[in-house]
Amino acid sequence: MKYPNIFAPLRVKNIMLKNRIIAAPMGTPKATVLSSTNYGGLSIWDKSKGGAAVVTVSDMYLANLAQEKDAFSKYAKDVTREVLSICRQAGSLAMLEIAFMGNKNTDGTIQGPSNGKHFTGGIMKEMSLEEMKEMKNNLVRRAQQAKEFGFDMLMLHFGHDSLCSLFLSPIWNQRDDMYGGSLDNRIRYAKEVLEAIRTAVGEDYPILVRFSRSLKVQETFKEEDMLYLIKQVQHLIDIVNVSCGMDCYGGTIDKYVANTYSHSTIFLPRMYNLAFAEKVKKECNVLVCVVGGVLDPKEAEAAIKAGKTDLVMMGRQLIADPYWPKKLQNGLEEDIVPCLRCLYCYHISTEHDNTQCSVNPRYRRENRVPLKLEKVESNKHVVVIGGGPAGMKAALTLNDKGHKVTLIEKEPQLGGNLKYADYGMFKEELKKYREYLIHQVQNANIQLILNKEATKEYVESLHPDGLIIAVGADIKKPQIMGIEYAIHALDIYPKLNQVKGSVVVIGGGTIGSELAYELSLLNHEVSIIEKQDALVKNANWLYRHGFYNAVKDSGHLLKVYVESQVKEITPTGVSFIDKDGKECFIKADTIVLATGMTERRELAFSFYGITPETAMVGDCYKVAQVLQATNDAYFIAENM
Ligand code: SF4
Repeated sequence: MKYPNIFAPLRVKNIMLKNRIIAAPMGTPKATVLSSTNYGGLSIWDKSKGGAAVVTVSDMYLANLAQEKDAFSKYAKDVTREVLSICRQAGSLAMLEIAFMGNKNTDGTIQGPSNGKHFTGGIMKEMSLEEMKEMKNNLVRRAQQAKEFGFDMLMLHFGHDSLCSLFLSPIWNQRDDMYGGSLDNRIRYAKEVLEAIRTAVGEDYPILVRFSRSLKVQETFKEEDMLYLIKQVQHLIDIVNVSCGMDCYGGTIDKYVANTYSHSTIFLPRMYNLAFAEKVKKECNVLVCVVGGVLDPKEAEAAIKAGKTDLVMMGRQLIADPYWPKKLQNGLEEDIVPCLRCLYCYHISTEHDNTQCSVNPRYRRENRVPLKLEKVESNKHVVVIGGGPAGMKAALTLNDKGHKVTLIEKEPQLGGNLKYADYGMFKEELKKYREYLIHQVQNANIQLILNKEATKEYVESLHPDGLIIAVGADIKKPQIMGIEYAIHALDIYPKLNQVKGSVVVIGGGTIGSELAYELSLLNHEVSIIEKQDALVKNANWLYRHGFYNAVKDSGHLLKVYVESQVKEITPTGVSFIDKDGKECFIKADTIVLATGMTERRELAFSFYGITPETAMVGDCYKVAQVLQATNDAYFIAENM
């Protein structure tokens, strides 16, 4: 057993966890759209089958207790029962999340500790003592009914946007009664609620409570205050779940800033809450479960072994691959699909626009993407041209279906543009994904032809029945005078340490902005010239804010010129028209071009006519992210 600490059982009161992995609640769909066979139910099935000891069922399954007396609305009971049995049948324990959140009042205001601006941008209305009591009683009723319903344990969400966080905040809590002012007063309500729930469910019923170590916004409390709260309530709790940030901090220009700590991007280190978890372990007498950026089994194993945490809670990685625990347990680590921390699976990141997983086409489509493709009796020979992420995914899917597959790549190695993941500071997850794909291709029954530039004649000579073209994209070279003095971003990545002096990056998409940030961390003076009105506009919201936060927190200065048009590149710098129409010149020792890529459409079109079953996937069809490449490739190959 390579990971004895991750797979050590753990007794918590009257239940036994078979390992140290808890699947996080992920806000799966509301009960009204949930069934055991749609994606909500099946994602729970996957996580349970995948080997997590405990699967958390999201709070969204619960009724609004302000309107209904029963914790499970009559419409939700059957599906909740089914979800519960899914966990049991698939081998995990079921934990129900109950969130300690303020209700919306009938006049549109939102309950909170005091009157003022609510963190969502709405109006916060001070809860009366009567309302606080009603909320406490509702939570108690929910907890009791969850236990009676058969959930093995409870997760009380006292982190992120909860009333616990708001009452603890010395800014949001301006009360002058026994629930405001001093630290003891600000923790009083959370403590009373926990006491009431513990009394109601009894000593033996396991309770995990999530707290944010910090809200990471200006209204936050201090980490020491949170530690103090935990010390005061530890006797009421079995497991402290250490999180960070908020979910919906939308009321200011810093919109989404707090989300990048509750759902971390590539710009935060993995397991970024571990130091606080360790503090709780050292100073309290309670089990600890860290959440946030838990992806790497070696890191999780080391943290548990070192006594910094007892358990790990995993969210995104179990979307990317719900079978992470089982693969690890069975020595199939190289078959784990790595999560990219790109957050396209999170609706807040995408604003409900195309929420999917970049590496797992089954996510949110579990009802039509089988766990394993049924092998067909096939004599079909399908040729895939191009060994980038789309080409490899297509070849693997074709192989899973049982077709004979030939994959042709012109470079000596597979990977396409993912080869640049070797160089960037924030590309470790991408690099792992490339290695995962290469490993899968090398171990599949795929004929791999490297170092071969495919031509129409050559492909014809292979007599394919089907053809998938994944020839990628070329660097886009805009018509700028003096462009020969610039180096392309992709060419500079392998020699980042050789870059000299001040740098101007032309193009502030993800490639240009990330590169500029990295160069600033290497102490170069860096300017970015971007023609749109903001940097990284091609990325999702949380990436964008993760990037802004990282730049701000680094203390390194990036000079940013948006809505600016480059006029000329010279050997000594770049002249451009800024957003006020002023002509400017920036001196630079190195000028980097990051103006994007363009589809190799003509090359792709040249392969048409060999077989009627021909399709383009990935960047040659449309330059996009890994998400589109993976999903396109899967579905096109699956239909061949
Ligand atoms: S969308 Fe990205 S962050 Fe979400 S699970 Fe998939 S790879 Fe991970």
